[in-house]
Amino acid sequence: MIDSHVHLNRREFDGQAAQVVARARQEGVTGFLNVGYDLASSRESIALAEADSAILATVGIHPHDALILADEHGKLTTAGERALEELAEMAAHPRVVAIGEIGLDYYRDLSPRPAQHAALAAQLSLADRVGLPVIFHVRDAWSETLEHIDRCGVPLRGGVLHAFSGDQDAVIWARQRGFLLGIGGPVTYKNSRLPDLVATAGVDMILLETDAPWLPPVPYRGQRNEPSYLPHTLKKVAEILATDPNAVDSRTTESFVGLFGEPAAQSQRSSP
Ligand SMILES: [Zn+2]
Repeated sequence: MIDSHVHLNRREFDGQAAQVVARARQEGVTGFLNVGYDLASSRESIALAEADSAILATVGIHPHDALILADEHGKLTTAGERALEELAEMAAHPRVVAIGEIGLDYYRDLSPRPAQHAALAAQLSLADRVGLPVIFHVRDAWSETLEHIDRCGVPLRGGVLHAFSGDQDAVIWARQRGFLLGIGGPVTYKNSRLPDLVATAGVDMILLETDAPWLPPVPYRGQRNEPSYLPHTLKKVAEILATDPNAVDSRTTESFVGLFGEPAAQSQRSSP
């Protein structure tokens, strides 16, 4: 399995990234995409990817931090232009395989919406400029985000709707644009709408993710999530699709490699 969305740099892991990765390997998770959300976490993602060849990195500014790039009226700032250049330089690193996570978050609304829109637009054009796919974070802003992407132009190298929480229309929208859906712990929650959406999407549109340290699958709700819990999500997806977990594993791994390339397979070497 590959964990297509994880934040091993977070303080919740407090310098234990190597142990966390080792535990995940024992559970069969052999690749990791460590996702940046501001400049510091983007740099940390690259450092993690340099230290372990099973880890790939993304760089980007989360909608919560949109003011790094734009003012409250949605105008790019001088500091923002500099930050975009820094992202472009980081994106040239061979272990950086996507721009993200970027998007709109109207749930927490931590940045003014015009700034969120401007930050998303600027980073969508950055993704095309550097030739990378995009990891999207969308929360309570599905129709706005999908319209915004269509208006700015669908990323040439494709993208993933991470922690997917859209509706059936969003699944169809994503399919028409060749986007993948990041499915994690919430698919295992009672009363989740995700099983129906996963069934509509089918295995070809799915990437497995933890979003650790957040969104742990059942039976770990309320605890810190980590990549070694990914098999619980895999099992649930296989159950929904009435198929073999191994088939879901190989198909989702193939989709990951098709979009981002191969994290080096080093599970044998590093297994204890
Ligand atoms: Zn994330």
